[in-house]
Amino acid sequence: MPGVSLRSGKSLAAAATDENKNEDQMEITRNKSLQELNRKVREKIEKLSWWQCYGVDWTVICLIYSLLPVSLYLLASPNFLTYLLGIACFGLVHGVNSTRCAHMGAHNGLCRSKGWNIFWRYFFSEFCSLFSVEVGMDIHIKVHHPHTNVIGLGDSSSWRVPQLPRYVYMFFAPLFLPCLSPLISVKRLFQAGKIKSAVKCAFIMFSGLATFIYLLQVYSGLSLGKAIVTLFASRSLTTPSYIHVNIFQHIGLPMYSQKNRPPRSILMSTGCLNLNGVPFLDVIFGHSLISCHLEHHLFPHLSDNMCRIVKPIVREHILQNGLTYNEDTYWNRLKLFVKEYDTLMVNAPPITHYIGIA
Ligand SMILES: [Zn+2]
Repeated sequence: MPGVSLRSGKSLAAAATDENKNEDQMEITRNKSLQELNRKVREKIEKLSWWQCYGVDWTVICLIYSLLPVSLYLLASPNFLTYLLGIACFGLVHGVNSTRCAHMGAHNGLCRSKGWNIFWRYFFSEFCSLFSVEVGMDIHIKVHHPHTNVIGLGDSSSWRVPQLPRYVYMFFAPLFLPCLSPLISVKRLFQAGKIKSAVKCAFIMFSGLATFIYLLQVYSGLSLGKAIVTLFASRSLTTPSYIHVNIFQHIGLPMYSQKNRPPRSILMSTGCLNLNGVPFLDVIFGHSLISCHLEHHLFPHLSDNMCRIVKPIVREHILQNGLTYNEDTYWNRLKLFVKEYDTLMVNAPPITHYIGIA
């Protein structure tokens, strides 16, 4: 873990010179270590087949998508319990669209073709999930990934809503996210002066919304009002977990100032946490967002299955090099965030002063 080293018996100037030399040496060592890990991962990835790189992920996506006709059939039932089961199945399809697929599309992790990744990005994010690709890319790809846990940049502060009490924030407010996300998207684009993008985004989102409502009306026989309620109720199914995952994996870990940020290997290893014990979320959200989050931050271009494959290499290398490998269960993090809500989600996070490896 990063720590502060104290010196005595030397002049301040001499101590500072020694410290700078040590820092430089450690930086070189860390960079070499990261280069070595890059080499190991690259060698592993080069040996993988298309099936291992992308085929497994698409099979999982198609299997979840097979729930779409099942859900439309179940939602047509007059039996309330069957209807609820239909909502659950419909919600799982949305969960895969809005998290696993939209996230991987943003990272060009769905296939080798950049053009197809851009197509899937718009399909899964804007058309299916009503969230702007441009806003998502700005927040996630341009800021969160390169500046993970750096205060004022990728510090996850956009997830904080300190006005809300803990149980409201953790379990109730996320249910409204599917209704709010298209409004937030368009508002942010307008505020940024991207009028053309806002209009294009609104058009794609409206087309997606209309398509899903049409499916519910034609194949499940729902009225317009019931189709809209069903759509947003099903989309709320995975949003509490979506919020949890986003805060559990970074908040509460060391945060750094932009001026004094550590080398990338330390920034990522101390600032990311893998969530274990929820294979269901691994399937719906993807390994890169759940059990291989650190691997994803170190190698963001890898697909979900590639992250799973390189995980043992990354874990072993990080531990052998004395770096931090954060892991915890979803349940433990949930208990911690409910208990320490004020410390973690209301108060400003303390800054970790990186000086070197203690
Ligand atoms: Zn990512």
